[in-house]
Amino acid sequence: MSAGPVVLKFGGTSVGDAEAIGRLVRHVTAAHASAGAVVVVSALSGVTDRLLNLAATAAGAAAADETIVQAGVAELQQRHEQVARLIVADAGRLCQVIASEVAELRNLLHAIATLRDASPRARDAVAAFGELLSSRMTEAACQAAGLPAVWVDARQVLITNEAFGCALPLTTETSSAVAAHLAPHVAAGRVPIVGGYVGATTTGVTTTLGRGGSDYSAAILGAALDACEIQIWTDVDGMMTADPRVVQSTHVVPRLSFEEASELAYFGAKVLHPSTILPAVSKNIPVKILNSRKFDGGGTLITASSPVDEPLAALACKRHITVVDITSTRMLMAHGFLRRVFEVFERCRTAIDVVSTSEVSISVTIDDASRLEQLVEELSAFADVRVEHDMAILCAVGDGLRRDPKLAVRILGSLEHFPLRMVSQAASRRNVTVVLQDAVAAQAMNHLHDTFFARAAVAAARGLAS
Ligand code: ADP
Ligand code: ASP
Ligand code: MG
Repeated sequence: MSAGPVVLKFGGTSVGDAEAIGRLVRHVTAAHASAGAVVVVSALSGVTDRLLNLAATAAGAAAADETIVQAGVAELQQRHEQVARLIVADAGRLCQVIASEVAELRNLLHAIATLRDASPRARDAVAAFGELLSSRMTEAACQAAGLPAVWVDARQVLITNEAFGCALPLTTETSSAVAAHLAPHVAAGRVPIVGGYVGATTTGVTTTLGRGGSDYSAAILGAALDACEIQIWTDVDGMMTADPRVVQSTHVVPRLSFEEASELAYFGAKVLHPSTILPAVSKNIPVKILNSRKFDGGGTLITASSPVDEPLAALACKRHITVVDITSTRMLMAHGFLRRVFEVFERCRTAIDVVSTSEVSISVTIDDASRLEQLVEELSAFADVRVEHDMAILCAVGDGLRRDPKLAVRILGSLEHFPLRMVSQAASRRNVTVVLQDAVAAQAMNHLHDTFFARAAVAAARGLAS
């Protein structure tokens, strides 16, 4: 195990109010006493949505919009100041810090209103204020509790490319920046507090890693620091056997392999940003998902291999996705057809999640349909195109699928009463993925969950295995 610190990431609800920040301080104190701690925080819950909304309103056409925007900023300032007064006895200095960040935010939104344009670059600059404010407040709360906390500007340590809105880390530059600006604090026994989700280009322009990106920040910084563990503190007990908003009878998955966790995150388990596992794999750092309201351990431990012998690890789903059917206008899939299809998706910067092909057609699912019009126009130049909205992806994940070939058949068999639009199993053989209408997705998910995860079913499978 590495001798590096624990990196602890706290999501929006885990820093949402004074009580939550109080619990954060207890978790950080425990980690600091064991291996040293680096803290990564999200914005207070709801703040990133609000900031992006203010940027969009500022760019709107009506002159009255700027008054609404300035009132929105005042409201945000009030919420942060209210929390500040509850977390530190003398909040004067902290409120000054908040006021100076808010003044900058006001200027930025005024510039957007004047230009009537919120570019991705400007939107990132606005969105970053959520984490800039929450990290300042966390620093103050930790200091008030006697921890040697020190605020570190995320833009100094997380260096990214210029893909505003979904920036990617530059590994070499980030490693040097972490060595220069973060590691010395850790070596000196201090507790650095960093805003998640935010980074900067090599020339210092603010970027963001995409929605939910604070998990990814924690993993990137954890890898650069050779952390001994990356802890994702959130509002549920760990990775659950299915999305708890869709299935009521879920329970915690105690162990997952890196690959299982990656697939679940990619196919919709929102508790983990899909890229979080990549940096952890690169340095073989264990990742834990934990409930920030609890102090009794538990949670999900994610490591290179999971010792658990369950048939399936968990289910995931992506709702309201779009299916695009592309049929070659020539009767056979001519050489180069697939290449031309994928080139169109590349040009339209649209990621494909699931693919299935037949002799003359290819069906793909996309999550982001914002460039659908351009996609359809370009594909129609050489194919017939049909689009179906309001579909859902259901994905059953588990290393057990590699061991037991009959499992995939049982999964599909259990869904026999649901019309499946697409079916796919990738080479990794760690997941079976189906696409069906969103209207029946919750029912199908519950049915699949009852079949494979009801405690009795798990026990029965164990009995059969032994
Ligand atoms: P945070 O603000 O802490 O980053 P998120 O809202 O991003 O929290 O992620 C936690 C949420 O993810 C949970 O409240 C839950 O609704 C959702 N979720 C979806 N699928 C799963 C799953 N398989 N296990 C746990 N949570 C899940
Ligand atoms: N605050 C950002 C968001 O809401 C990042 C995060 O919470 O991880 O998307
Ligand atoms: Mg999140």
